[in-house]
Amino acid sequence: MIVIRNARVLTSSGIEETSVVIDGDTVAAVGAEPEANGHQVIEAPGAWLGPGLVDLHVHLRDPGQTWKEDMVTGAKAAAAGGYTALVAMPNTEPPIDDRVTATAVAERAAGIEDVEIVTSGALTKGRSGEELADFDGMYDAGIRIFSDDGDSVPTAGLLSRAMAYLLDLPGALVAEHAEDRSVAGTGQLHEGAVASRLGLAGLPSLAEELVVARDLLLAATTGTRLHIQHVSTVGSLDLIRRAREEGVEVTCEVTPHHLALEETAVEGLDTNFKMYPPLRGRDDRTALIAALRDGTVDVVATDHAPHTTAEKEVPFEEAPRGVIGLETAAAVVSSKALGKDPELFFERMSIAPARIAGLSRHGRAVEKGSPANLVLFDPDRRWVPAGFASKSSNSPFVGMELTGRVLMTIREGKITYEGGSG
Ligand SMILES: [Zn+2]
Repeated sequence: MIVIRNARVLTSSGIEETSVVIDGDTVAAVGAEPEANGHQVIEAPGAWLGPGLVDLHVHLRDPGQTWKEDMVTGAKAAAAGGYTALVAMPNTEPPIDDRVTATAVAERAAGIEDVEIVTSGALTKGRSGEELADFDGMYDAGIRIFSDDGDSVPTAGLLSRAMAYLLDLPGALVAEHAEDRSVAGTGQLHEGAVASRLGLAGLPSLAEELVVARDLLLAATTGTRLHIQHVSTVGSLDLIRRAREEGVEVTCEVTPHHLALEETAVEGLDTNFKMYPPLRGRDDRTALIAALRDGTVDVVATDHAPHTTAEKEVPFEEAPRGVIGLETAAAVVSSKALGKDPELFFERMSIAPARIAGLSRHGRAVEKGSPANLVLFDPDRRWVPAGFASKSSNSPFVGMELTGRVLMTIREGKITYEGGSG
């Protein structure tokens, strides 16, 4: 048995300073402690104890690009970041777009112990944007979230057919990476003052907003659930708010880096600040934080996108897009966006993402009988990210002092990460 004492616990009636007893894969008691000795006792005054974090957007690069990351190292990075479940994106090699690949990946994921890995599936065959993927086969293999992440579905006709098809598969969700390539062109960073100064091609907010607007119209027409990935602009937030008022079933996510950083961070052309969508302006960042607080944005998702140092140590225009995020997300979100509000933190980082992905053993208040998928987080601990459990270290937060540290992660009653002292 594990006993965690004096933490601020997210119970079904809110935050309570109390003790939690874990026995096997279950929370055995909240508020009462066992009489016998010999248990592992953790004193955790001031730390937050709640459901393990859930990430809707992770690139594990497995199969096909396992020099960047694989399921084992990705799961270790997730555990170190306080996560107990994640959704892996299907832009692997080969892409996850049919029954055979989905089944093979799901079988390997089931053998991973540090975190529950749920795989998502492509919307189009080969992610080529030309014909629909094998939805029935992937659905039978357990896939519920479908996305061509890395690319948008290029034509409205194809996406509307995908939406109509998935409407008949209970629990299926269309997730979209919103980027109109004809507008994005060769853009490298947000189209704004910094791009002009550097003389680099910009990525206008319009490239994102056109696709968000189109997809919301399609979702309204077909009645399909829609999830917008990594929202980054004021305009996208306005579109989502309006669609919701009109009854469209839409959810959306924001990344930690869009909450913490702005376009000015790219000034030094450090490729660890290159990603899509790009870091935007001050108004966008401020609006994203407000939207995460007021619920316009449902969840934080990391878009953990590993690339090796060699791949990133090239001129800015040639560098691949994407940054890692699993191991720094909790600190960045609590200290840069949500403040010292454990209820809101667990809602956006665990409860809402678990609900969107349909993960019933995650994202639940800590109470007698609930699954022991938990994270213990110290919101005041200062640290500087240096080494990572991930195979890659392309983090914009390397060397930056962060506040808030995961102390322990527990999946199904087993400690998958213990640390936070360094
Ligand atoms: Zn994306």
